Amino acid sequence: MGTDWNISSKDQSTFLNQEEKAVLVGLITKEEDEVTANEYLDELEFLALTAGAITMARFTQRVDHPDKKYFVGSGKAQEIKEYVDQYEIDLVIFDDDLSPSQAQNLEKVLKVKVLDRSNLILDIFANRAQTAQARTQVELAQMQYLLPRLRGLWTHLERQQGGIGMRGPGEKEIETDRRIVRDKIRNLQDRLEKIELQGETRRKNRGQYIRVAIVGYTNVGKSSLMNQLSKSELLEENKLFATLDTTIRKVVFGRMPFLLSDTVGFIRKLPHHLVESFKSTLEETKESEILIHIVDLSHPLYEEQIETVQKTLASMGVEQKPILMVFNKLDLYREKYFDDLLTDEEKENLINELRESLEKKYEGQVVLVSVRTKENMQKLRDMLSAMIETEYQRRYPYKAKYW
Ligand code: GDP
Ligand code: MG
Repeated sequence: MGTDWNISSKDQSTFLNQEEKAVLVGLITKEEDEVTANEYLDELEFLALTAGAITMARFTQRVDHPDKKYFVGSGKAQEIKEYVDQYEIDLVIFDDDLSPSQAQNLEKVLKVKVLDRSNLILDIFANRAQTAQARTQVELAQMQYLLPRLRGLWTHLERQQGGIGMRGPGEKEIETDRRIVRDKIRNLQDRLEKIELQGETRRKNRGQYIRVAIVGYTNVGKSSLMNQLSKSELLEENKLFATLDTTIRKVVFGRMPFLLSDTVGFIRKLPHHLVESFKSTLEETKESEILIHIVDLSHPLYEEQIETVQKTLASMGVEQKPILMVFNKLDLYREKYFDDLLTDEEKENLINELRESLEKKYEGQVVLVSVRTKENMQKLRDMLSAMIETEYQRRYPYKAKYW
């Protein structure tokens, strides 16, 4: 058969190389105005950069529905093709998921790699998975993504290998490969189950401590906050999904110990298979007594990001828990939105008004901070302490104190 479907995380991560030049393509639909569509593309550009590609241009098209054949209209596809040829573009990235046949048709026309948001996120995850669990989860998601697309992948490989000595595969080979991929999926699922069982035992052994989980959209400052609170050194990077695995640290405030976990970031349109695969990683969130939902206040779409996080939590069956809403990057917010002509007092009034409106709008306790400049970090600690103490008292009502 001559083809090895054993695409490991490592192989997959060579998918994108540092020097690659990309163009982005998005649709402006009825529900999205141009500003929103562009902000989505900003995020896609950031994803591309995280994966190692430089964005050279963006193409948008105003339509009600994606085109069945090319996702964009055929005229637009031609326009993209001309740009791709002129500027020697390596890959074209679509903001929405393409059907297998759309991807195939587009590759035929554009003659370069065609990716969608899912591909890109999978690639980043593959690159960043560190533990056996994360690697297995990513591989499983890759296989599940691959299964309906086996045919599309063939055309891709044929072209990459210049077609030399390689005739187009017949239906029979595709069937065989489907079976191999299905077996592989089952294998990975078994392996994951075993790893999860071990994790469960480990989690049970941590029973006596109150657990606090940090959740939030990607790149909002989860790892930075974790580092500040636990004085540890996790990777913080201005990249999406710098950390994939749940990290847990024992933290002590005064004499009150608790466990703090940093989880994978949430993102809009996270590929379905990835959400499924990563649910076990998010198990930590489910079993925590308290959630810290951290938000990047300086991001223009922060409200929508909050919604994405809330929806994902709900879909995972995370019930209501005491929640501390941490609105982060106050320093950037000031820089972006405050005029130099305002007096300090006026600025403080505006921040107070903002806090009040956020308190009204969101459930839970609200605090505005800058993890970077440490503004209001003591306040955050005090609020969190009080919440943890309440939990200890709820759990051990017969004890006067938790220590
Ligand atoms: P995570 O993806 O949510 O874990 O986010 P990280 O902790 O990795 O932070 C993402 C980026 O935001 C990094 O470049 C941080 O240095 C930066 N960052 C975090 N907190 C702040 C803050 O309060 N102000 C500013 N300006 N940047 C911050
Ligand atoms: Mg992180």
